[in-house]
Amino acid sequence: MLAALQARIEGKRAELVALTQDLVRIPTVNPPGEDYTPCAQLIGERLRRRGFEIAYIRAENTPGDSDRHPRTNVIARRSGARPGPCVHFNSHIDVVEAGHGWTVDPFAGLVRDGKVYGRGTCDMKGGLAASIIAVEALIELWPDFSGAIEISGTVDEESGGLGGVAHLARMGLFSKPRVDHVIIPEPLNKDRICLGHRGVWWAEIETHGSIAHGSMPFLGDCAVRHMGAVMEAFEQELFPKLAAKHTSMPVVPEGAKSSTLNINSIHGGQPEGFGGLPSPCVPDSCRMVIDRRFLIEEHLDEVKGEVVAILDRLSATRQGFRYSLKDLLEVIPTMTDRQAPVVRAVAEAIETVLDRPADYVISPGSYDQKHIARIGHLHDCIAYGPGILDLAHRPDEFVVIDDMVDSARVMAQAAHALLSGAAGHG
Ligand SMILES: [Zn+2]
Repeated sequence: MLAALQARIEGKRAELVALTQDLVRIPTVNPPGEDYTPCAQLIGERLRRRGFEIAYIRAENTPGDSDRHPRTNVIARRSGARPGPCVHFNSHIDVVEAGHGWTVDPFAGLVRDGKVYGRGTCDMKGGLAASIIAVEALIELWPDFSGAIEISGTVDEESGGLGGVAHLARMGLFSKPRVDHVIIPEPLNKDRICLGHRGVWWAEIETHGSIAHGSMPFLGDCAVRHMGAVMEAFEQELFPKLAAKHTSMPVVPEGAKSSTLNINSIHGGQPEGFGGLPSPCVPDSCRMVIDRRFLIEEHLDEVKGEVVAILDRLSATRQGFRYSLKDLLEVIPTMTDRQAPVVRAVAEAIETVLDRPADYVISPGSYDQKHIARIGHLHDCIAYGPGILDLAHRPDEFVVIDDMVDSARVMAQAAHALLSGAAGHG
């Protein structure tokens, strides 16, 4: 069976490339969420012809949803001959904007030197195509399989996934007993299993001052100078403290094994984008957005507490310092157990297909696994797929065709093991 499966996937190489090209040629750019419906239909109509039941689910009233830009998701399900576990492959269909610096057309799906080029080839239409080909090959050879296979194409991953996986998880579509094992073919390389991701805290800090004429700043109180004091405290205390924290999570790249904080934006005073001369005012407000990524060893309360302690100390020690703090987004770190069935099945398949042991990694940024864990309460979930993570969102993004074929072979074998019970399920 396994040898036949490998040969069949190899025989579908041209079909895999063509499917990747077809997906890339639909420019599902997010924001605003362009062409989600035709992309969902490409997947849905293809799988309908192969015996899948298809559901198109529009996430109405989620951010960005409108009749012009409907948040259209697709779930395809095929039940086998007997009851059994369900293996689900989930891919996001949205891509980020092309941006500048391309030497090829980002939406042409050009094939050159064994690679497919274009926005989304790596992140993650190549992985989506590989999972579809893997499942089709498996079903052709094993039409009377037990259990169920699902493939979903979901929207808005690049903007938080609220209209995509989070919406479907709220409908119960990513929970037991409907689904048992989830593989998300994000580009983590064909020999690596991504067990989860770090946590996220986004917040906005505002410092307050009082307005006055700019020629007499001593009559007002400059909110930007107060923010300068915050920055200074971050430089002196917070950044060194975060850099000194190390995780036992196998996060890649190496730098992301520490806690990190990015200052996403800072603004105070004269509005940006105004072309005229400024009016002479002392700014009475300054706002900074922070993007803090934290480790599984840290608690969210502690993460927030470090920032609050600095702000409170400045309130106590610095003349006129007043602040407010607003939470924007919180994501708890996730790490699937290495002994979980989906991890073991994919690890064994990597060893058989690629003849080398699997590597285990944690993603520096979060992806849709967060919603499956937190809303769906389903923890047998990993990211595994072809493509080099560093190429995601870059100009001249590509995916290597050999890598797509190899990862399709791994996915098919892992799905076979999970459905036949060889990897143990529960
Ligand atoms: Zn992605």
